[in-house]
Amino acid sequence: MLKVAKFGGSSLADVKQFEKVRSIVEADPARKVIVVSAPGKRFSKDNKITDLLYLCYAHIKYGVDYRPMLESIRERYREIVDGLGINFDLDAAFAEIESALGSDASESYLVSRGEYLCARICAKYLGYEFVDAKDTVFLNYDGSIDTDRTYEAIKLAYSKSSGRIVVPGFFGSLDDGEICLMSRGGSDITGAIFAAALDADIYENWTDVPGILMADPSIVKDPYPIPKITYDELRELTYMGAKVLHEASVYPVKVAGIPVNIRDTNNPEADGTLIDESFENDDLKDDKFYITGITGKKHYTIIDVKKDNLSLDAISTVMQVLVSRGIKVEQVNSGLDVFSVILENGVNKQSVYSIATEIEKLTGGSVKISEGISMIACVSRRMVFRSGISGLIFGALGENDINIRLISQGARELNILIGVADEDCDRTVQVLYDSFTKRGNN
Ligand code: ASP
Repeated sequence: MLKVAKFGGSSLADVKQFEKVRSIVEADPARKVIVVSAPGKRFSKDNKITDLLYLCYAHIKYGVDYRPMLESIRERYREIVDGLGINFDLDAAFAEIESALGSDASESYLVSRGEYLCARICAKYLGYEFVDAKDTVFLNYDGSIDTDRTYEAIKLAYSKSSGRIVVPGFFGSLDDGEICLMSRGGSDITGAIFAAALDADIYENWTDVPGILMADPSIVKDPYPIPKITYDELRELTYMGAKVLHEASVYPVKVAGIPVNIRDTNNPEADGTLIDESFENDDLKDDKFYITGITGKKHYTIIDVKKDNLSLDAISTVMQVLVSRGIKVEQVNSGLDVFSVILENGVNKQSVYSIATEIEKLTGGSVKISEGISMIACVSRRMVFRSGISGLIFGALGENDINIRLISQGARELNILIGVADEDCDRTVQVLYDSFTKRGNN
């Protein structure tokens, strides 16, 4: 059994957090590959090491003395190393960084040292072997991963190792050997790549939340974590605005058929959220809440085209106009005399008006524009088996005086989309969350 466990910055922010990581790793001998971020915030007004490193480089770039900043970063690591009581030569590590800076090291090199040092310290503390991402993760010049070369290198490095390794996340190297960063939060991607390359049984992503939540906690107070979610459901929720794992960070494991388990470092007893392609024995009774998650996204525009006996030709004209203007269509809805398109959110007002004029001219129909529309998605793989879900939605929104502007169900019955006015968006999410969870609890 092989588990790849990635720990985020908040899980490694200070000595106490490192200790939690060690007890998690030691609790399961299958946790053989550990991927780490740089130390994150210890409290809400604190700074992440990665941000401090970016700032440090900005000092260098603008000719301001960077040493006090680098010193404060060294202090953060010093506290960790001393508090863990390990024998790690921090002065030598920082001397190496300073000497690289003296010979014009890049911003990516400097910023990557956050993860690099964290991984070296963590390896020492756990008694694992350090494996550098520079030698195992290869990026193309466009920032994408050179998968073949990377997977080969990971397999080789792991086979030559003691079998228990710690790897820094968030960076790799380019063809010319230069360090290259991934996008922010990229350690999630590194974890997924290692899990896929080594054909792990599971990819654990340890963070500071109880899992993926059923709704946005800034709208709904203490929403329940989702116990199980499929990749398809996750995609729907992410697409509709839920701030969960970035798609790129699950793609390698999704393709490899490896489940992801999001876990809470501060509450390791909890099961967190399990993400997989599908679930065996996915019993309907399991899912007391009917739905997996709810999310809302604001600022859409709807264009309604009305014409008696709307023909396919007219519909295709509308679509061609939108395509020619490079406007992304989120959803379409069509009836006998009306065809509605929901446009990507935030589309420029001026272009909507000129598009409407062109559509009227070309189709001979009348066009109505509705702006300030929010789309609320209720996502669930169980919808297909259940009756009464849309009834519940209509009932709950009706009782709460929320006017539904549009309703549409995805073809695979994975989600129901409801359009409401922007000012009703948060209330709709809250009302639906309450009615689904209350019903589930009865
Ligand atoms: N430390 C980097 C960041 O703050 C990468 C990561 O945490 O995954 O974005």
